[in-house]
Amino acid sequence: MTQTLPDLDLDLAGLTREYSAHNYHPLPVVAASAAGVWVTDTGGRRYLDMLAGYSALNFGHRHPRLVAAAARQLDRVTLVSRAFDHDQFGPFCAELAQLCGMDMVLPMNTGAEAVETAIKVSRKWGYEVRGVPAGQAVIVVFDGNFHGRTTTIVSFSSDPDAKSGFGPYTPGFVSVPYGDLAALESVFATCGPRIVAVLVEPIQGEAGVVVPPPGFLAGVRALCTAAGALMIADEIQSGLGRVGATFACSLEGIVPDAYLLGKALGGGIVPVSAMVSSRSVLGVLRPGQHGSTFGGNPLACAVAREVVALLRTGEYQARSAALGERFHARLASLPSSAVSSVSGRGLWAGVSFASLDGRAVCERLASLGVLAKETHGRTIRLAPPLVITEDELDWGLERLSEAVLAC
Ligand code: PLP
Repeated sequence: MTQTLPDLDLDLAGLTREYSAHNYHPLPVVAASAAGVWVTDTGGRRYLDMLAGYSALNFGHRHPRLVAAAARQLDRVTLVSRAFDHDQFGPFCAELAQLCGMDMVLPMNTGAEAVETAIKVSRKWGYEVRGVPAGQAVIVVFDGNFHGRTTTIVSFSSDPDAKSGFGPYTPGFVSVPYGDLAALESVFATCGPRIVAVLVEPIQGEAGVVVPPPGFLAGVRALCTAAGALMIADEIQSGLGRVGATFACSLEGIVPDAYLLGKALGGGIVPVSAMVSSRSVLGVLRPGQHGSTFGGNPLACAVAREVVALLRTGEYQARSAALGERFHARLASLPSSAVSSVSGRGLWAGVSFASLDGRAVCERLASLGVLAKETHGRTIRLAPPLVITEDELDWGLERLSEAVLAC
């Protein structure tokens, strides 16, 4: 049988267009290498990375301690599956549980898998511990949510791009407006005994870095506690230092019943995610009921242990808090004729434009040497690595002003 080989004369972006599914619309930048906050393309041009892999690169590209931890582990053992234990697994679970102030960890790989884990665990917990009648569990979510791309997760998305055409959808979810405690209260009033969990992003990332009104998270916590439902905080994007604290929930003094973590947990090197919760919640699982071949593998655990060690210093949370003030002060002085709102916390912001197209601003920014990404038309998201310096941050924000004025 003759094989047709790819035409390697096509340019690299052309190969991507030709041979990869078009499920993304990337900016016209082809990265060849990266270090810290800087990405270099195949032509040798440098870009300040103000997206940081949607917070997967909180510690920057190739943080020396994370690369060293990965390299050490590559020379030892990388995968055993969960058929037997390895020497990174127990320490990883213990260290992450301790960082979160929780009892137990269930490691997976992608963020969506951590969310799926939480859905399964809270349903099982609802049936076995709360006594919800079989098949009747309800999980409350919020309009504008983004929790991943699996069939079940898109079933409760309010974004037509994410959802349309992928039915039939998984039942058992009720969505209420984000930030609307009265709406949540009325769902508890109508189907409270069946509600096993409320799944909430403490700050909605994909929606445009939307910060809920003060008191909202405390209200969710109180309603969950009163009804005996689990409050599950999806901190996959907001957690691990991004907002100037280890968790966005802590900014409001809230402790959920479970954290969902991902992205930065893998140090920008390997996919690592986890559900972290109490013994009474994660304890409902028995062998064979949930798992993943790669979840909790030695390489992932070694890198994630180093991530936890970095976070234990408090240095990254402090940087994010201090630089975040400078960041938001400068964002507030962007041309008010163009910018309709700025939201966010720490080194994380959504900038919405009155009439400019977010994509056009990001393309202009890339041409000026800064990487950022639009969301929902008129908003761009900024999430520089937490290792960024004041000068680099100022430089990036000057380019943003320039791009806004030029668009
Ligand atoms: N949850 C939140 C809050 C996210 O922002 C994301 C990804 O952006 C996910 C879940 C899904 O993570 P992943 O893309 O690793 O599946």
